[in-house]
Amino acid sequence: MSINGIPVLEDLPSVDGKRVLVRTDFNVPMADGVITDDFRIKAALPTINWLLDHGASVVTASHLGRPKGTANPKYSMDAVRTRLAELAPGVELLENLRFDPGEEGNDPAFVAQLVEGIDAYVDDAFGAAHRAHASIVGPPKTLPSAMGRLMQKEVAVLLGMRNDPKRPFVAVLGGAKISDKLGVVEALLNSVDALVIGGAMCFTFLAAQGFPIGDSLWEPEQVDTCARLLASGKTIHLPEDIVGVDAGGNYATFGIRLPPGAKGFDIGPGTAAAFSDVIMDARTVFWNGPMGMFEDERFANGTKTVAQAMADTKAFTVVGGGDSAAALAQFGLDGDVDHVSTGGGASLELLELGDLPGLAALRAAPNAEANEAASP
Ligand code: ADP
Ligand code: MG
Repeated sequence: MSINGIPVLEDLPSVDGKRVLVRTDFNVPMADGVITDDFRIKAALPTINWLLDHGASVVTASHLGRPKGTANPKYSMDAVRTRLAELAPGVELLENLRFDPGEEGNDPAFVAQLVEGIDAYVDDAFGAAHRAHASIVGPPKTLPSAMGRLMQKEVAVLLGMRNDPKRPFVAVLGGAKISDKLGVVEALLNSVDALVIGGAMCFTFLAAQGFPIGDSLWEPEQVDTCARLLASGKTIHLPEDIVGVDAGGNYATFGIRLPPGAKGFDIGPGTAAAFSDVIMDARTVFWNGPMGMFEDERFANGTKTVAQAMADTKAFTVVGGGDSAAALAQFGLDGDVDHVSTGGGASLELLELGDLPGLAALRAAPNAEANEAASP
């Protein structure tokens, strides 16, 4: 049953009458102590209900916000616990894992505390699987372990796309900073048939080609890397027109060259149409990072056009990244793509490296295939 050697729920020994610790991602959006969207709690229910149906008692644990190792009432799990009790009565929820410095420090003493009285471990917190934190990598060292249903879907989709995509495979990348994403850009360049680059990220590439970019956001220290990627012989689609503001701060449309003082905040309509064609002709598309500063309606068109193409294409479509997913939802198109990843950083790191600390830990658990084969 396992995927890439990582055990799934069916690979656990019987959980009947056992206590199972589930690492969830209950990092819900909150305003003034009130949960504004409970989708992350609901998303954990398939895993929780499978365990309950098989006779387990379930203890969940999550982080919430960044309390940085101290107990801060602002980040208490109380509101989540109340909502969880409505959705899954009888399921326990520990206090915010990050109240203890041992969580982010991966302290063995904190791991020991987490697994005390626990018989099995399930990780369903894909968004945290790229962190080698105590609750992620600790329990599988001693407990029979598995990934939950959310994590299983993420791994199947993202690894399937990375290792065996239907071609043409196109990656559409945008967002603010190249340096954040350079690793994945380089890794994807090896496996994609074409790379499409928008967002602020495009200006460092345009600068590397010698085009004047005005006062647009760019990263001078990444110019050499962009030049090298452009020289790799791979197909890289860059904008041919830009929307932004002129030196006086007025909305303006430009060609590929920005005048002094101008700032590019979105891909232009010609570019958006061209990018859309590439997406329509692909059979697999991965999209990460908005094409412009879509939070400002004047600069949302490029992102909207790309989102619409993602919804319309017959290709298998995957969206990763918090802001890209938010943009998709804002346009009401989140139901029209094949997979929206719940983990921004985790999805990029999995595409780049093909593995994550949380997955490696599960693959080494006592009940995992590798260890089963090794034991008599
Ligand atoms: P994601 O969360 O999907 O990975 P990022 O966090 O990398 O995306 O980038 C999202 C941010 O990039 C958005 O806040 C958006 O306003 C910003 N952005 C995109 N294009 C530009 C641009 N041309 N200039 C300034 N900011 C931009
Ligand atoms: Mg972001």
